[in-house]
Amino acid sequence: MTEAKLTDRPKDWTNILFLTLTPVFAGPVLIWYTYKTGFSLWMLVLFTVMYSLSGLAICAGYHRYFSHKSYECSPIIQMFYAIFGAFAAQNSILKWSAGHRRHHTFPESEWDPYSIKRGFWWAHILWIFHVDPDGNYIDNARDLQKNPIVVWQNRWYKAILLIAGFALPTLIGAYFGNAIAGLLWGGFLRIVMVHHSTFMINSLAHTLGTQEYDDESTARDNWAAALLTFGEGYHSFHHKFPADFRNGVRWYDWDPAKWFITSMKFLGLASNLRMTATPTIERTRMEVAVKRLQAKIDQAPKQRGMEIQERIIKARDAFSTAMVLWGKQVEERAKGRSAQWKEIRASYRATLKEARREWRGVLAALNSFSDAKADRTA
Ligand SMILES: [Zn+2]
Ligand SMILES: [Zn+2]
Repeated sequence: MTEAKLTDRPKDWTNILFLTLTPVFAGPVLIWYTYKTGFSLWMLVLFTVMYSLSGLAICAGYHRYFSHKSYECSPIIQMFYAIFGAFAAQNSILKWSAGHRRHHTFPESEWDPYSIKRGFWWAHILWIFHVDPDGNYIDNARDLQKNPIVVWQNRWYKAILLIAGFALPTLIGAYFGNAIAGLLWGGFLRIVMVHHSTFMINSLAHTLGTQEYDDESTARDNWAAALLTFGEGYHSFHHKFPADFRNGVRWYDWDPAKWFITSMKFLGLASNLRMTATPTIERTRMEVAVKRLQAKIDQAPKQRGMEIQERIIKARDAFSTAMVLWGKQVEERAKGRSAQWKEIRASYRATLKEARREWRGVLAALNSFSDAKADRTA
């Protein structure tokens, strides 16, 4: 890969024009035209359906399947990702994934195409306005170069985008009696919305939110970004565990891509969904919190401080044991040894509960110590 100063990079005028003109059509032109010719519900439905299909193809397909291989899926699903992903006008699977793998391998460095260290707007959109000297670097995507669907889509990406991404909504609009409205709502508005919600992950989810899994990385968990991106906003988790097919790991986290992939599994169209062990996730979360609370722990009165330290050690041990038991129960289940699996699963659950109890004890002890301190100062 080449090292070059950002100022040395020539401007990419095709990208600049595309990314500045599409919002003009999606905003003022669409408003003016809708005002002139009238609004119908089908326009909103067309926008929503096409937004969902191409957004999902980027999140569950380009990102979680092709870039991270966090699960396996059938060629039918891969074709869905290839076609509707091309609709999103974010380059081919091959180029997108190679760039994204650089973002994970060299985060916040010269080779991270959308490094947040170069500023919010660089990470959001300005990186696309310049020719990336490593834009054609695909050596980190040799697996994808062997995938015939990826190779086919890389060759025909622009044709799919132009013919299907713009012509299809225009035709649907024509069916409802207003071809231009179809193009504006299902083409331009949809592309701009998918663009900026995806871009938001590189900018906003590296700037605002909680650093629950790694306080040294700029990646943050941001639920608002998750709302617009089919679940991609839980970015602190994603950077820590990129191989996990989920981004929103708690059952209630807004992560439609995770639910889509799980549904595909039930339909027999996806398999080998990779998941990080729960004790590993919870221990990581605890270690980051311990680091954040260290100053407070150090201020605790001697007896209370010792109790807290003891509980942290016990929680660590229990999480480690739970990690081992988790692996064993997965093994037993795969071997089909039902009785052994249930037995190990029971002790795994009990150990995990114990780890959680100890950690809750640490937090309660810290709170009671703070309360006592507050009472004294009151
Ligand atoms: Zn990132
Ligand atoms: Zn990623």
